[in-house]
Amino acid sequence: MGEKSEIRMTNDKKRIVIIGGGFAGVQCAGTLSRGLARDQAEVVLFNDENHLVFSPLLAEVVGSSLSPLDVVVPLRQLLPDVLCRTETVRTIDLAASEIEYESDDGEIQRLGYHHLVIACGSVTNLNVVPGMADHAFPLKTVGDAVALRSHIMAQMERAEVCPHPERRRWLLTFIVVGGGFSGAEAAGEINDLVRSSARYFKNFHREDVRVTLIHSREQILPEISPDLRDFAGKKMEKAGVSLVLNARVASATPEGVGLQGGQFIHGGTIVCTVGSAPSPVVGRLAAPTEKGRLLTEPDMRLRDSKNVWAIGDCALIVNAHDGQPSPTTGQFAERQGTQCAQNIIRVLQGQATRPFSFSKLGELCSIGGHSAVADLFGFHLSGFFAWFVWRGVYLFKLPSWAHRFQVGFDWAWLLLFPRDLAHVRARPTDRVSHAHYQPGDFIIRQNDPPLNFYVIEQGEVEVVRSSPRDQNGEVIAVLGPGSFFGEKALLSNEPRVASVRARTPVEVLVMGKNVFTQISSTLTPLRDALAQALNRRRVDVWKDEPQAYELLKRTPLKELMEPVPQPLLKPTAALAEVGHAFVEHGNEFFYVSSDGQTLDGVVTITDLLRARAAGAAAQTPTNQFMTANPVALAADDDCAVASNVIRECRLKALPVVERKDTRKLVGCIRVRRLLAYVFKHAVIGAPDSCQARNQLAGGAGRGMDWNNPAS
Ligand SMILES: Cc1cc2nc3c(=O)[nH]c(=O)nc-3n(C[C@H](O)[C@H](O)[C@H](O)COP(=O)(O)OP(=O)(O)OC[C@H]3O[C@@H](n4cnc5c(N)ncnc54)[C@H](O)[C@@H]3O)c2cc1C
Repeated sequence: MGEKSEIRMTNDKKRIVIIGGGFAGVQCAGTLSRGLARDQAEVVLFNDENHLVFSPLLAEVVGSSLSPLDVVVPLRQLLPDVLCRTETVRTIDLAASEIEYESDDGEIQRLGYHHLVIACGSVTNLNVVPGMADHAFPLKTVGDAVALRSHIMAQMERAEVCPHPERRRWLLTFIVVGGGFSGAEAAGEINDLVRSSARYFKNFHREDVRVTLIHSREQILPEISPDLRDFAGKKMEKAGVSLVLNARVASATPEGVGLQGGQFIHGGTIVCTVGSAPSPVVGRLAAPTEKGRLLTEPDMRLRDSKNVWAIGDCALIVNAHDGQPSPTTGQFAERQGTQCAQNIIRVLQGQATRPFSFSKLGELCSIGGHSAVADLFGFHLSGFFAWFVWRGVYLFKLPSWAHRFQVGFDWAWLLLFPRDLAHVRARPTDRVSHAHYQPGDFIIRQNDPPLNFYVIEQGEVEVVRSSPRDQNGEVIAVLGPGSFFGEKALLSNEPRVASVRARTPVEVLVMGKNVFTQISSTLTPLRDALAQALNRRRVDVWKDEPQAYELLKRTPLKELMEPVPQPLLKPTAALAEVGHAFVEHGNEFFYVSSDGQTLDGVVTITDLLRARAAGAAAQTPTNQFMTANPVALAADDDCAVASNVIRECRLKALPVVERKDTRKLVGCIRVRRLLAYVFKHAVIGAPDSCQARNQLAGGAGRGMDWNNPAS
């Protein structure tokens, strides 16, 4: 990648560069191009998409009231006198008055400016709540709205063919996090869409649909007056939206959301409208910020700068009208765009700039069911009339007549005809990602089509197989860090034969089907590991010994558990010390615990020898060569699970912890003891110690069968 400065600047014609084609940037560019002659200034607008997004109408796209193209306007059609560049600005060099961007061919380009306007908004940051980024839908871009709409359609189609009433209810439950404008509008639209569409489905009714709006304060819509908030809340509840107020979401999982305080709300769809972060170009800028927003002078110039301005959501601008920081709304972004452009023109003409000052016109919010709340010029409106005004105002605010006609027509159409339920299925992007699951969450469900391959990074999962006899399912294996699952169904392209459920909080690496197929066919070590696992997991070890399996199944682990081998080692114990412990105590392994109770790791003689062979010094602490967080069984597991896990992990012993959700060590279970128990009860037909050992400890070609574990 090279680096070059693209266009030379002349002193007489000024170049004004704007980063961001949102409400603020577009208003600024439009005002500049109208206020300055072409030979006076060149206005260049960078935006990473070629269109302006009319975000207040995104919820209408989700609810199928508008088409995605109705809420975007191509920038070059909107700003014919502006040089529009669909490129992403990477950095700003304040000292050199240049921006740096990556051109189409990957080269880094630099462009000088006389004035720079930073109007790049903010980006969604769902990482504020554990699991939210993995399991929730954001609502910031047109792509987000389209993906969410498509998902809602898919959930309705799934509910239609789902035979289990409980799962059907889960599929039809939609959780919206955040009761501000975008959350309330999204909840209202989803509620309208799904309830009004129920009449086209045979397997569920309006009453089966649940939409829950979670908000951290006492009332939703903090931006409007208390009486309108009250009206909006009551109206939404009447339409069927459940409000969960004074509640904060603590975690998101595929099953729903957990609230601070312990309550869990189940639902198949989570929409998150809270959580934002500065745009990366702002994050990289060495300029003062507050809560990620650039601090400005009253005239919107960046602090300590003469020719750089910041406006819109990315800036914290004090409004001279009331002395308060401007809110992050489209209304303020537009006014800042206009007034910033006027100030730049003043500077170019040698006049004094003016501070930003704006008295807001009011607030409008659609809440579904042809109802809205409006606070306009001090007048409070609510209900159908407010909804009519809301539509009129937004129609008028759309930036072109073509859009006004199109949107007006779509809205009129929907007053007469039902919403479009077409579900256009785009092939899901194949990718490698990470996902977080809480204990009890299903990562894979039996009979689901195979989509992904999973590698456990942290935590434990259990493989559960249900049968007509046992609907709740029977745990047939436990897998821990480093183990993988999901390969068999992908390779055979058949539905999942067992479910996989998180046993503890789990982090998994998720590989899409195509990525998995490509990597597994080219990367020899992965191919070999998969072949071995398939072999291990393929055969029904208990087929010939159903009594042995039944015996192990009904024997609680506690009965055969042995005490924790002593002493417990500290993670800080030096390698030399561990060597002495092996000699002195004759153990095959030691458990490692920092507090004398919790299982942190296990260290075997092999670990010790491997560390020595790799050149570890005598003082190397144990936590650098032990197996950290090994898979553990719970005291209430049964012995059949223990035998399967021992075989899967190819170990001679496994630690036993008090419960699934704790790591408190209470003992260990050894393959020797399990074997002795089975032999003692003489249930193995024609016992042959070699065969029996294979069955429990896993000899060549024998393994537990996840497809048919003797159920
Ligand atoms: C779902 C939703 C509903 C809303 N409803 C309302 C409402 O009813 N009323 C209201 O007043 N406000 C509403 N808002 C808020 C309003 O949309 C924002 O306040 C407004 O869009 C901010 O304008 P902006 O120009 O600062 O940023 P944005 O509109 O976010 O525009 C920034 C642009 O800059 C681009 N960009 C960022 N970084 C770069 C880069 N490095 N290089 C090139 N381009 C870049 C981005 O892609 C984007 O196009 C809503 C927002 C959302 C998400």
